[in-house]
Amino acid sequence: MNNYIQITSEIQAKQEIRKQLGRLRCPLCQCQHYVKKLPEGRYFCSSCRHKFNLKALLGFKSCRLTYVQLLRIIHGFASRKTLQATQDIARVSYPTARLAFSRLRALLPDKQGQLAGDIITDVM
Ligand SMILES: [Zn+2]
Repeated sequence: MNNYIQITSEIQAKQEIRKQLGRLRCPLCQCQHYVKKLPEGRYFCSSCRHKFNLKALLGFKSCRLTYVQLLRIIHGFASRKTLQATQDIARVSYPTARLAFSRLRALLPDKQGQLAGDIITDVM
């Protein structure tokens, strides 16, 4: 589902986030082979015995935002919407939206891995 505005229930939002994350990785030991789902909706890494929820994987550990708000903020961030637009969609305050954007930005990989230097091309 591409229209995240239509998702209004927590269960749907959680399912969508879970689907987008793909194979889960333990936030503590980065192990992905021993992550199991617990009955209460949390996840358990049997390698390091760490329990976590989906918010922890998104960098929003112990955050009070609902999954619906979180999904809308992530959508706003990913589709390069302004803070103001994201704030309106997710119905959060401006400081909350700003903090969420900076948390998401912190998850992006470093720029060191990107191509750099001179580029030589042949003209045909
Ligand atoms: Zn682990």
